[in-house]
Amino acid sequence: MTHYVCKGECKGVSEAPVSCGAESCSLHNHPLVECNCEDGSHKEEGEMKEESAE
Ligand SMILES: [Zn+2]
Ligand SMILES: [Zn+2]
Repeated sequence: MTHYVCKGECKGVSEAPVSCGAESCSLHNHPLVECNCEDGSHKEEGEMKEESAE
């Protein structure tokens, strides 16, 4: 399910495309980033794709 995460210190997550509301966060008042992860890792697609198979 699509959700929105803050990439700042607060690691905030919202189901709506709002802005960060944590005043102590460096991204306060910045819009959250859309995320579609299903495992809560909030990794952007294409990022950390490679897995080391040893
Ligand atoms: Zn934040
Ligand atoms: Zn996510």
